[in-house]
Amino acid sequence: MAPPLRKSHYMQYRRCPKAFEYAYIIRPDVEFAKSSAADVGTEFHNRAQEVFNKFDINVARSLVSENVPKYIRSLMPESTDELDAMFWNFANHEARRFTFGKDAGYTVEDMQKYFIPVEQELAINWDGLQFPLQGHVDRIDRMKRTNCYCVTEYKTSKKLNIPELRKETGFYANILNHTNYLDMPAHYWSVYDPRIDQFHIERFSPMTLRAVDNGLQKLFNKISAGGPFPRKITPLCLWCSYDTECLWVNDDVDTHELPSELISKKENKKSSGSKNEV
Ligand code: SF4
Repeated sequence: MAPPLRKSHYMQYRRCPKAFEYAYIIRPDVEFAKSSAADVGTEFHNRAQEVFNKFDINVARSLVSENVPKYIRSLMPESTDELDAMFWNFANHEARRFTFGKDAGYTVEDMQKYFIPVEQELAINWDGLQFPLQGHVDRIDRMKRTNCYCVTEYKTSKKLNIPELRKETGFYANILNHTNYLDMPAHYWSVYDPRIDQFHIERFSPMTLRAVDNGLQKLFNKISAGGPFPRKITPLCLWCSYDTECLWVNDDVDTHELPSELISKKENKKSSGSKNEV
C-alpha cells in the first residue's frame, strides 16, 4: 500500500512539485531538525489543548468578565516572555468567546457544546484511496446556528496566508466529510494566531473544496504516472531543504538562469565550505 499523503505533502506539492517528490518519493525517511520556532508552536498547541481539558465552566461563569482572561491564563504554565505573550493573547481571545456566550444567555450545557471544542489534536485518516490521506486537526468546534462543524488551525507565524490556509483546512474537511469522524459536515474553517492575536473564520466555498479535490486527484495521477516532478523556482528555494541536490549538483539545471539571490547563496556556501545540507 502507498504511504499516507499528509497535509504537509499536499501543501509542499502546491509550493513546488519537485520538493514534494523529494519528501514523498525520493527521500521519505529523511527527517530534518526542528527549528526553535517549531518548538514554540508545539508548546503553544500543547498548552492550548490543556486549557480546555482543565476548563471549569461553572468557575468561569461565577467570575466577572474582567477576570475570565486571568482564569484562562491560570490554566497555562509560567513561561518565557515570547510564550507568555501568546498565552495572554489566547486567554483574552477565548475569554471574549466565553463572555459573548454568557451575555447571549448560553446555559452550562450550551457552553459545554459550543465553547469547549469537540475535538483537539485529532489524528484523521481516509484509507481505501489509491493514496490514503492523513492529517492532524488542531481543533474542531460545533457551530451553534448552522448544524455543522468548524475546523480550526493554530498558527504561530508573523503573518497569516489566508488563501493557503483555505487549502490546508480544505484538506482536513475533505477527509472529515468523507469519513465518519463527525456526525455533521465541517462547513467552516478558522485560524487563530496568538503571536499576532489574529482570528479569521469563514465558510468553505464549494470552489475551495472542489479545488482541493481536483488538486489531490492531479497529484494522485502524477504519482501514478511516474517520472520526474517539475521544479518551481522561486525565492523560497533559499529556504528549501533540498536546494543543494535539486539546483546545484544537477546537470539539467542551467545555474546562470537562476535568480541572483540563489546564485549568491551558492557562492556564499562555496566560500564558507559548507556541506551539502540534504
Ligand atoms: S530548491 Fe526550489 S525548485 Fe528545488 S525542490 Fe526546493 S523549492 Fe523546489
